[in-house]
Amino acid sequence: MSIKIDQDKCTGCGTCLESCPYEAITLENGIARVGESCVLCGICADNCEAGAIIIERAQDMAGEDLQSCRGVCIFAEQGYGKIHSVSYELLGVGRQLADDLGVELAAVLLGHNVMDMADELAAYGADKIYVIDQPELTCYSDDAYGNVMVDVIRQYRPEIFLGGATAIGRSLVPRVATVLGVGLTADCTALSIRKEDRLLLQTRPAFGGNVMATIVCPRSRPQMATVRPRVMKKGNYTPGRRAEVIPVTPGPDRVRSRVRLVNSVKEEADLVNLAEADVIVTGGRGLKNAENFALLHDLARQLGGAVGATRAAVDEGWISYAHQIGQTGKTVSPKLYIACGVSGAVQHLVGMQSSEIIVAINSDPGAPIFDVATYGIVGDLFEIVPALTKRLKELSNS
Ligand SMILES: Cc1cc2nc3c(=O)[nH]c(=O)nc-3n(C[C@H](O)[C@H](O)[C@H](O)COP(=O)(O)OP(=O)(O)OC[C@H]3O[C@@H](n4cnc5c(N)ncnc54)[C@H](O)[C@@H]3O)c2cc1C
Repeated sequence: MSIKIDQDKCTGCGTCLESCPYEAITLENGIARVGESCVLCGICADNCEAGAIIIERAQDMAGEDLQSCRGVCIFAEQGYGKIHSVSYELLGVGRQLADDLGVELAAVLLGHNVMDMADELAAYGADKIYVIDQPELTCYSDDAYGNVMVDVIRQYRPEIFLGGATAIGRSLVPRVATVLGVGLTADCTALSIRKEDRLLLQTRPAFGGNVMATIVCPRSRPQMATVRPRVMKKGNYTPGRRAEVIPVTPGPDRVRSRVRLVNSVKEEADLVNLAEADVIVTGGRGLKNAENFALLHDLARQLGGAVGATRAAVDEGWISYAHQIGQTGKTVSPKLYIACGVSGAVQHLVGMQSSEIIVAINSDPGAPIFDVATYGIVGDLFEIVPALTKRLKELSNS
């Protein structure tokens, strides 16, 4: 995209200067000039009564007849023969949006030998499933998956497209949005439809979680968003529910990747199953050192849960990044979250505050973690955690 000032039309009124939130516009010899801090938000063009500001878009879907795009579509991410749980969550929110709009919900499934997975997507609420089953798509690659996804969107023209904010989704969805020349809101925590104009309201935390921004993309289709895993609820599961399965065959050049996969190794993050855990025991800087995390592992074991950590604990090198919860770590939403020696910084809270029950153990009664805690225990974690573990052991032996 680019921005141009039509010098013949510009009256030098200065309205654009006042409307620009980024102070990117100046007046030179009575004509508006756009500087480098412009982010192409288009607010100046909306406010220019003379029509002198033109936002030019790449050859893309941005100039499409908006009304001709219909339906909600999700990227059904899968790997190692299993559908990623975020895909079911996307079907949950996607179903809601599709029902509000009175349109169909579609899922795009890419991979090799994936046809069997279509039944699961149907059971979780998809009306249509586009299946692209090719040996070249066995493992994820940016270019092959990106090309195919762009082609599917261009052909079937949904008005809304959603992906998971996973490692793959965060790589694929921006790539697709860039090729299509449309907007994208990453890491949404809420999605809904504005009834008056059918626009997708895309809400996400901004400025370190201190404000919630609601973003709309009125001029291009599809409206694209990614959603963090475990933020939305899964779709209702109806075994035996049917969907129309549409096999799509891409051209050979579209599935050809410039990247040759030599080997694929499951990283530790997959083994630390925080996203799926019903109970998480998290340690912060209050743990004091790496060895003390053994206390949390003991407690987590008694509860059948996993161990999480704050960024402070990870930065200290006490535990690996795979355990980090928060803005730059994982988002979790377990039934029980026990925070031990965690102050409750906003960057940590955004990753765990939707947990059902939060228990905070902290020696400082003024710690902000107590503001979100269901139960707060003011005291020394080195006394409380072993006592809890001991009591749980007694109960399980009795
Ligand atoms: C851009 C950005 C992104 C970030 N992303 C993340 C993120 O993803 N996740 C994250 O967690 N943080 C993140 N942070 C860091 C965040 O701001 C905080 O610094 C961090 O969460 C603090 O971790 P903490 O609570 O372990 O440490 P502290 O804030 O130091 O708190 C330690 C707590 O332990 C308590 N304590 C000490 N001893 C005991 C004891 N014996 N018994 C009981 N309680 C005790 C203290 O009272 C204190 O409240 C980010 C920061 C920035 C700027």
